[in-house]
Amino acid sequence: MDADLIIAGGGLAGLSLAHAVAGAGLRVAVIDPVPLATATGAEFDGRVSALGRASYRMFDALGLADDMAAEAQPILDILVSDGAPSQGKYHGPSPLTLHFGHKDAGAGPLGYIVENRVIRVAQSRALARQGDIAFIAPDHVAAAVADADGVSVRLESGRTLRASLCVAADGRNSALRQKAGIRTVRWAYGQTGIVTTVHHARPHEGIAHEYFLPAGPFAILPMTGNRSSLVWTEPTARAHAIMQLDQGAFDAELAERFGSHWGAVRSDGPRWSYPLAFHLARDYIAARLALIGDAAHGIHPIAGQGLNLGLRDAAALAEIIVDAHRLGLDIGAPATLAGYAQWRRFDNMSLAVTTDLLNRLFSNDLPPLRFARNLGMALVDKIAPVRNLFLRHAAGEVGDLPRLLRGHIL
Ligand SMILES: Cc1cc2nc3c(=O)[nH]c(=O)nc-3n(C[C@H](O)[C@H](O)[C@H](O)COP(=O)(O)OP(=O)(O)OC[C@H]3O[C@@H](n4cnc5c(N)ncnc54)[C@H](O)[C@@H]3O)c2cc1C
Repeated sequence: MDADLIIAGGGLAGLSLAHAVAGAGLRVAVIDPVPLATATGAEFDGRVSALGRASYRMFDALGLADDMAAEAQPILDILVSDGAPSQGKYHGPSPLTLHFGHKDAGAGPLGYIVENRVIRVAQSRALARQGDIAFIAPDHVAAAVADADGVSVRLESGRTLRASLCVAADGRNSALRQKAGIRTVRWAYGQTGIVTTVHHARPHEGIAHEYFLPAGPFAILPMTGNRSSLVWTEPTARAHAIMQLDQGAFDAELAERFGSHWGAVRSDGPRWSYPLAFHLARDYIAARLALIGDAAHGIHPIAGQGLNLGLRDAAALAEIIVDAHRLGLDIGAPATLAGYAQWRRFDNMSLAVTTDLLNRLFSNDLPPLRFARNLGMALVDKIAPVRNLFLRHAAGEVGDLPRLLRGHIL
């Protein structure tokens, strides 16, 4: 065997799994078409991730949080509100808002907003420190053929590696998932998320604001300093038009939606756009293969949960295979992998469906729906136990959490 585990995809989920199992003594190879120097560059991925408290705790347990801390913005409050368009202008949030404060959810912030670039830099530093993860890039996994004793993974470069288990962490268009014949349920939202950083005159006080406009959610995610990251959702054709605007016209559209509660606002730096789609793999496992992260599910960013789910996949799979390895069991055996699929399926499916329904409920301007959702938000805001349940979901602290998400190393 060249490794115990071969991970196709060194994205945020794949590398998290690699750090978790390598820390427990397994030999890991990670393959990715993109070299780390490119993936950690400022132009590669403009997104930030809203990491729930439990996800951040996992990064801490893996020894990565110290490298993120200076650029991790604590989320102190979450504000959810419905926007009211009038004569083409957006007139700020409706008075029926939903407010989640971190003090209602026990000690510390609800989570952290961290730039994906910052997470990747922390992961690449940990790779250099750990030394026992073979990171092979640029190359990609062309095929994985399983037999009774292991799996042979053929790389595009012609090299073949052998291990007990192959993990597909190769993103939403996972080639390994397709080659294994695993089908998906999928649809496109016809929406595109515009992502950019904005500067505002006044501090955001750690408030993440999910502002529902008829075209789709407009998420304002606080970053360090007087900066926030936007995920501004529009129907795809409109998003393309907005992407083409010069800075003055873009900032005018931005100000109409952003409002003036934090003073004057202007965009800063590049804009990115991400077409939004839903997919859910029908199976998470095949012979000596397990799917994690976006290879297994892709959800609407409305609640900022996609990576949080991927990290829970990584933590659950790591725990299962480390425990099997310690008992001298085959980490790629069907019984081992079945435990992983069973653990993760319900959580992923229920969140995928919830985010889909939320997007359908909020991305429109039908008066009865507007009335119903405003009423719903006002009710949730007033009923403390319901509000606290939402809070615990946002912090990622609901359900059967793997050890890493409870802050314990494997
Ligand atoms: C606009 C937007 C905002 C979001 N905001 C949030 C948020 O606030 N919070 C949150 O939790 N989530 C958020 N998400 C979701 C989150 O970004 C994704 O769920 C997460 O990045 C997926 O990580 P991954 O490692 O599974 O996949 P990816 O990041 O897609 O990584 C896949 C990796 O596999 C590699 N690869 C591809 N093909 C091969 C191959 N054949 N062999 C080997 N390697 C291969 C790729 O190069 C890549 O490095 C957001 C998503 C969008 C679109």
